[in-house]
Amino acid sequence: HTPIHVIGGGLAGSEAAWQIARSGVPVLLHEMRPVRGTEAHKTDSLAELVCSNSFRSDDAENNAVGVIHAEMRMAGSLIMSCADKNQVPAGGALAVDREGFAQAVTEAIASEPLITVVREEVTGLPPAEWDQTIIATGPLTAPGLAKAISTETGQDALAFFDAIAPIIHTDSIDMSICWFQSRYDKVGPGGTGRDYINCPMNKEQYDAFIDALIAGDTTGFKEWEGTPYFDGCLPIEIMAERGRETLRHGPMKPMGLTNAHKPDEKAYAVVQLRQDNALGTLYNMVGFQTKLKYGAQAEIIRMIPGLQNAEFARLGGLHRNTYLNSPLLLDGKLQLRSRPGLRFAGQITGCEGYVESAAMGLLAGRFAAAERLGKDLAPPPPTSAFGALLNHITGGHLVSHDEPGKRSFQPMNVNFGLFPPLEPGAIVKPEGGGRFRGKDKAKAKKQAMARRALADFADWLGGSSAQQAAE
Ligand code: FAD
Repeated sequence: HTPIHVIGGGLAGSEAAWQIARSGVPVLLHEMRPVRGTEAHKTDSLAELVCSNSFRSDDAENNAVGVIHAEMRMAGSLIMSCADKNQVPAGGALAVDREGFAQAVTEAIASEPLITVVREEVTGLPPAEWDQTIIATGPLTAPGLAKAISTETGQDALAFFDAIAPIIHTDSIDMSICWFQSRYDKVGPGGTGRDYINCPMNKEQYDAFIDALIAGDTTGFKEWEGTPYFDGCLPIEIMAERGRETLRHGPMKPMGLTNAHKPDEKAYAVVQLRQDNALGTLYNMVGFQTKLKYGAQAEIIRMIPGLQNAEFARLGGLHRNTYLNSPLLLDGKLQLRSRPGLRFAGQITGCEGYVESAAMGLLAGRFAAAERLGKDLAPPPPTSAFGALLNHITGGHLVSHDEPGKRSFQPMNVNFGLFPPLEPGAIVKPEGGGRFRGKDKAKAKKQAMARRALADFADWLGGSSAQQAAE
């Protein structure tokens, strides 16, 4: 077979290349690092994690990202198998040793005979002879290619900015003030129920911290004013500006945590840190994305009890996020409508997150390989996590068909809100009869959606492999 070209060896591109090779089709994987770097990548490994080391919840019964984890494992995902092999404890979340993980992906790709890695920057749209190409160049797509894409699509490839959280050296954290505990003592895979470091604050300390955040922001980056943020990734200073209590109800909520040093004292707010590497020498601040200037940032974070002597491995900062207006531009198989054979995958399609990016790489790879092999691969059902996310990106049931371009398309993590409603009777009744109410009802609904997703995805996978066998 003629090779398929994949541009970008990140989360999506590595997964796409792997899936194509597994179908027996050769791949040329073009990765620009180390020839050219990005603002966030630090190594030349494939699938480098640029910020957090967490793949988020691994709970496939109650959480949409846990469901997509499970679906990816069923589909033979390289990213998931390398993540599973490089886990670090993180309560109910799947977190990884970032170097071990990226190394495992790089080695697997290097030893796959059907994949050739080419270390070069692709500076324009693929030439006509690359009849099957996947662009998976991520939120930090190099400017030359980004410009070519926006010229081809006639849309301005949107660029805006997100903020990332600081990472702290563990031995600079004062454990006579902080303590280890997972919220509600939750024990996840490899975890102990004591996976997070917690820093307590009383009301006075919280108020002083909020004041400093608000004051700190005024000295911040004026040029990013008016920047649209994802709600799931708001900088702490923006949250503080929105309301003094916002942080206390968000990343700094004290629920489910008891101060081991002062068990009788209820903290007013708690800052959590999560293990960042296998050695446990680094911890990152959970939900503490910030765009505060470095000097002010270090000073303000050292106001947090227990972090008064914090040494930073990395401070928080701003980053670029380039993504397409996909509902308008891409069809249901991730192809550019104006140029079939040219697919997009990963964060550039407007999904958000490591796992989601890898998932869209997996799909793009399978679609491209099927086409090369002359097979018709139907998209996964919208009731599956894969299908729900694909629908969000490419339009599906969520777009106004009259004016698809009118919808203001926002990158999104996978969540149950993207899944179609349940059929009547899908929620299993509580033991002893009656109906679920309130929180129990919401939980039962999520569980029913998760069960349906996994069953429908398994059918889709079975169907596509049965079809392949028949052909
Ligand atoms: P990437 O993993 O970035 O891969 C793209 C690859 O393409 C890179 O290796 C790059 O070098 C290469 N490339 C770019 N242009 C070219 C070119 N012209 N030619 C050849 N190669 C090229 N998600 C989370 O889940 N958790 C987080 O904490 C998180 N933090 C983030 C922090 C930052 C700073 C950024 C930018 C994003 C963050 N994201 C996070 C979002 C997203 O999940 C990651 O960006 C993820 O890596 C996206 O996967 P991808 O495969 O689409 O892109």
